[in-house]
Amino acid sequence: MQIEVISTGTELLKGSNINTNLAAIGCALGTIGQTVHRAQTVGDDRDALISAFHLAALNGDVILVTGGLGPTADDLTRDVAAEFFGMPLVRSRELADDLRRYYRRRHGAGPIPATLFRQADVPQGAAVLPNANGSAPGLYLNTAYAGHACHVFLLPGPPVEMEPILNAEVLPRLTDLDDDGDRILTRGFLVAGGAELLIEEALEPRFRDCPISLAYCASAEGTRVFLSAADAALLDEKFTETHQLFSGSALPEGCLSIAEGLVRLLQKQHQTMSLAESCTGGLAAAAITAVPGASEVFQGSVTAYDNRVKSEVLGVPESLLATSGAVSADCALAMTRGVRQLLHTDCSAAITGIAGPGGGTPEKPVGLVYVAAACGDRERVQECRFRGSRESIRQRSRAAALRLLYQLVSEAEPQA
Ligand code: ATP
Ligand code: MG
Repeated sequence: MQIEVISTGTELLKGSNINTNLAAIGCALGTIGQTVHRAQTVGDDRDALISAFHLAALNGDVILVTGGLGPTADDLTRDVAAEFFGMPLVRSRELADDLRRYYRRRHGAGPIPATLFRQADVPQGAAVLPNANGSAPGLYLNTAYAGHACHVFLLPGPPVEMEPILNAEVLPRLTDLDDDGDRILTRGFLVAGGAELLIEEALEPRFRDCPISLAYCASAEGTRVFLSAADAALLDEKFTETHQLFSGSALPEGCLSIAEGLVRLLQKQHQTMSLAESCTGGLAAAAITAVPGASEVFQGSVTAYDNRVKSEVLGVPESLLATSGAVSADCALAMTRGVRQLLHTDCSAAITGIAGPGGGTPEKPVGLVYVAAACGDRERVQECRFRGSRESIRQRSRAAALRLLYQLVSEAEPQA
């Protein structure tokens, strides 16, 4: 099944918006063992959109289009798709009523701009994909082009609207489309901190003559590994084998982040945790508290940005700060001990480093980060050298600290 993506929006070309929808689509398709064959990005321009449709529809079985479904003049996707596939627009009374109610709820009484109702226009024969988070519904055109079937999904641009429709409406349909007797099943898990290249190198030889296809999706958290196969029993066997291969770093299936994995693990072990953060300024605490149920395990954190807070609040010895410096393995360990004692928790993690862009020296360059973790009578510290922007270094530091604590805690887990 050849899948084509068309991202629309002049702001994507100008750089005022990053095309996160394409990344979200790529990742989501990975979960069902599919990949994007080609992606095109076009501005809010009729001719550009037509030529993108032409290229995509020539060989594509599935076309996912994002953006341009709203009510304003620059929203062209619906009209252009209707024209291109020869499916005239018909106004849906039901959608128009929904839009009227939506408008009244948000803007009260008063005249409704006529353009609002463009969002109630449906290409004849298309299915409406409900949008619970916005006004423009998605649309599914089961159509044809140049003599072959073409399944076209028009999705809203805002990611909060696009992603739920993608998951609830598009993925199940794509799974069904691929179901001509040889449905492909997919299982996946996150390898915390694992580099995609190394994971691929470890796995590819093991699967060389195996009817299982592998897919990877890298992020600051690590690499998500997906195994897809038609044979369910074989898939289960290989999934277990692969998961065990990465034991301490492999999160349980369904765990989408290291923070979530850590919270679940600590819940199971009835343990509590705390955090001390310098260069991440609370990112790790934010990731932990984003997980439902975090209150059962997370006691709190200290953002110890200035050295005075490191010493006065966390008890990092001033002599240590003077000799080793705030960005050092010793300091990270002292911070994790300090916060654990201060907040009376079973385990803890700490982060100290240089996020840049300024502040680096030849001995301690930007991207040098120490993360430490403590659990029971065990402690561990790790030196990391990250590259990239301040934001990327901070996100990677956050992930590294939570991963180190995850590994420390999971080592105490009885092996299944
Ligand atoms: P609206 O009803 O809000 O106009 P729409 O379906 O017409 O929705 P667009 O107008 O194309 O969508 O985009 C609306 C907003 O959604 C953009 O300003 C941008 O913030 C976000 N957006 C659009 N496309 C993307 C994308 N590919 N990646 C990330 N964000 C996007
Ligand atoms: Mg719009």
